[in-house]
Amino acid sequence: MKNLTRLGVHTITTKPWDIDVAARNYAEKGVAAISVWREALEGRNIKSTGQMLRDTGLTITSYVRGGFFPAESAKDRQVAINHNLKMIDEAAELGAPLMVLVCGAVPRQPLNVSRTQIRDGIAAILPHAAACGLKLGIEPLHPMYADNRSAINTLKQANDMVEELASPHLGVVCDVYHLWWDPDLKRETIRCGNNGNLLAFHVCDWKTPTEDLLLDRGLMGEGCIDIKQIREWIESTGYNGFIEVEIFSKKYWAMDQTDFIDKIISAYLQHV
Ligand code: ZN
Repeated sequence: MKNLTRLGVHTITTKPWDIDVAARNYAEKGVAAISVWREALEGRNIKSTGQMLRDTGLTITSYVRGGFFPAESAKDRQVAINHNLKMIDEAAELGAPLMVLVCGAVPRQPLNVSRTQIRDGIAAILPHAAACGLKLGIEPLHPMYADNRSAINTLKQANDMVEELASPHLGVVCDVYHLWWDPDLKRETIRCGNNGNLLAFHVCDWKTPTEDLLLDRGLMGEGCIDIKQIREWIESTGYNGFIEVEIFSKKYWAMDQTDFIDKIISAYLQHV
């Protein structure tokens, strides 16, 4: 019997599917959990969509993705904070326990300025997240995205920020695609795991060559990431949460998504 009780899939992974089609197919194939991207909720009643997901037997793991705090003007930073506050309400309506933060960056300002703005932005929204019973997860992004997607590029930076803000409603999200290259990864995964700050674990693979910096993620086993090793570090700390497949790929979005789910399941069983 295939053990898929910890397998989660992000709606963006099967982007061509509407969320109800995705949910039905995930559940039929035995996937246990779903992470919901905001785009997947467009034009839908959020509360009833959350109920629909639970009715199929799926666990909702997270709402993706808030963040993008840095901006050159105080006015624009406030716009970002307001947008995040709205997303926290949406996550609560959906019934997600976690909102993932892609923290943001502005190419025209120094990274350390963006980092300070990220910290201040998170501090500004934390009370509302806490009031809604929601956790926020800082997901460090690969440094190739440091110009405009995130100034938080290592797990150490995320861990430092989480410990500085010291809230039970804030933690980190580890995505192997962003972190696999980091020589400090073992130490930092163990650090967040032991502190109870590891909130989610995302998997896919890094292809050689990567043909598109955003939309050419590989299926697990297709690239150079030692996912089993990273999983072992994480689980040595007692982490037993879901393992979520998050793949942005023009190639896989172009194929039959039912066949793609089959590929995901066999890659998960073999390479994770
Ligand atoms: Zn991720």
